[in-house]
Amino acid sequence: MSDTTLYTLKESISEQLHVFKSKKDTSGECLTVSKSVCNKMRYNETIKTHFACQSKTVAQIKCMEIGRVICETCKRHLHRD
Ligand SMILES: [Zn+2]
Repeated sequence: MSDTTLYTLKESISEQLHVFKSKKDTSGECLTVSKSVCNKMRYNETIKTHFACQSKTVAQIKCMEIGRVICETCKRHLHRD
């Protein structure tokens, strides 16, 4: 399994967007942690996945393209080095 952290953007039942950390396993399956970066959203509250297992750069671009308000804490995490 690669150790590169990837990012997944999910929408919660309250329609807020949060970022989750993900990894790909050896078969290319996307594995996502059970809590968002900000700890405010749980995986089982997901109503929609906007993107899954993207690199930080791609995730930043996609977040801009979506044009929706993304949780401030999660967003800050994406733009941190
Ligand atoms: Zn968040």
